[in-house]
Amino acid sequence: MSFTNLGLAPALFDVLAEKQYAKAYPIQQAAIPAILKGKDVLGIAATGSGKTASFVLPLLSNLQNNLVTKNRHVSVLVVVPTRELAVQVQKVFQTFSSGLPQKVKSMAVYGGVSVNPQMIALQGVNVLVATPGRLLELVESKAVHLSAVKTLVLDEADKMLNLGFKDEMNRIIALLPQKRQNLLFSATLNDDLDSITQVLLHQPEVIKI
Ligand code: AMP
Repeated sequence: MSFTNLGLAPALFDVLAEKQYAKAYPIQQAAIPAILKGKDVLGIAATGSGKTASFVLPLLSNLQNNLVTKNRHVSVLVVVPTRELAVQVQKVFQTFSSGLPQKVKSMAVYGGVSVNPQMIALQGVNVLVATPGRLLELVESKAVHLSAVKTLVLDEADKMLNLGFKDEMNRIIALLPQKRQNLLFSATLNDDLDSITQVLLHQPEVIKI
């Protein structure tokens, strides 16, 4: 299926063509319309399935209609297990933002590097891609505020649990507004994840690839 029939902002089509994304992958066909409608999504899909674009494209599209840039309040929060994934996901946001009329500023934050440059750069960020520990550190120092988050994405949630981030994940979720959209992606489902999805997701669209 072509990307043009999924309801995305047409301003995204040029970059899709440039990147030679001719057809939407199955996860994209299923997730894009659901995310555009504001629904919660549980996506069981491995790396390589095209899961990143399946949330980046509709979230950028939705932001075109209601972009609010309020100093250190982010609108979209993507929590990921590793620095590598943070950098990779942020790049996809940046790539697809390039042709948009409403400029969306995205940034990746992760541990293992000094915190100060990240604190300074967090001004005016709309989409934050973060590893759990560094995110909490930045929230505690008030470099970023989560009270205006409209959409939470937990990417590679199974890996996050395997790396021992369960407490951090719960602490982050507790800092978010009650009313929000939740998207959870994982390569596998187990009992631990099941209990998280039941608390986190409301009538989700379940997509298994
Ligand atoms: P991901 O599963 O998100 O890590 O994506 C895997 C790879 O597929 C990345 O290199 C993407 O750029 C690429 N990709 C994602 N969706 C499409 C698509 N619809 N057409 C062509 N390439 C794609």
